Amino acid sequence: MKIAVIGAGLTGLSAAEKLKNGAEVTVFEKTGRAGGLAATIEHRGFRHDYTGHFLHFKDQDVKNRILSLFDDGSLLEIERKSYIYSHGCYVPYPFQAHTHYLPEEVRRECLVGFLENLKSEDAGVPGSFYDWMNSQYGQGIVKYFMLPYNRKMWAVHP
Ligand SMILES: Cc1cc2nc3c(=O)[nH]c(=O)nc-3n(C[C@H](O)[C@H](O)[C@H](O)COP(=O)(O)OP(=O)(O)OC[C@H]3O[C@@H](n4cnc5c(N)ncnc54)[C@H](O)[C@@H]3O)c2cc1C
Repeated sequence: MKIAVIGAGLTGLSAAEKLKNGAEVTVFEKTGRAGGLAATIEHRGFRHDYTGHFLHFKDQDVKNRILSLFDDGSLLEIERKSYIYSHGCYVPYPFQAHTHYLPEEVRRECLVGFLENLKSEDAGVPGSFYDWMNSQYGQGIVKYFMLPYNRKMWAVHP
């Protein structure tokens, strides 16, 4: 069987790797270099990452699969210790699962927004990333984390 995979980002490369047994897989990539958003480019002796290079594993099988691909020791395994500094508190990631670290009034706003959101009618397909965040997390979590975080990350209003 012949299989064409369009795009050599993480998704395309993972699909190609998975499908290659017993099939002739060809990956087509328009930029001429693999990696997509997760690529690193070298320029004048400096290495630049397009995005973060952290793989977060929930599934042990997936983790083992990835580790088996990097038997040259180039994959660094680190325990995740990341926090959001908010209202004088260090809140562990993910923010929405750790609102109990926050002052009571902020925590209340996050929880009430989340619960009100659960009760609200499905508004259909969100028109923007901002709408989607509100539909997923409610207004409090968006106000205190999702909005400032994503505005900083993308440098535009979501
Ligand atoms: C700032 C930032 C930080 C991030 N940090 C992390 C992180 O720490 N950990 C993590 O797991 N994820 C992180 N992500 C997300 C992660 O980078 C992406 O989810 C992942 O790289 C997407 O891979 P993909 O293959 O789906 O898409 P892409 O990486 O976008 O790959 C798509 C590929 O398809 C090619 N292509 C498109 N159209 C065509 C065409 N017509 N013909 C041929 N080729 C085509 C593109 O050139 C590209 O190479 C981050 C993302 C961003 C933006």
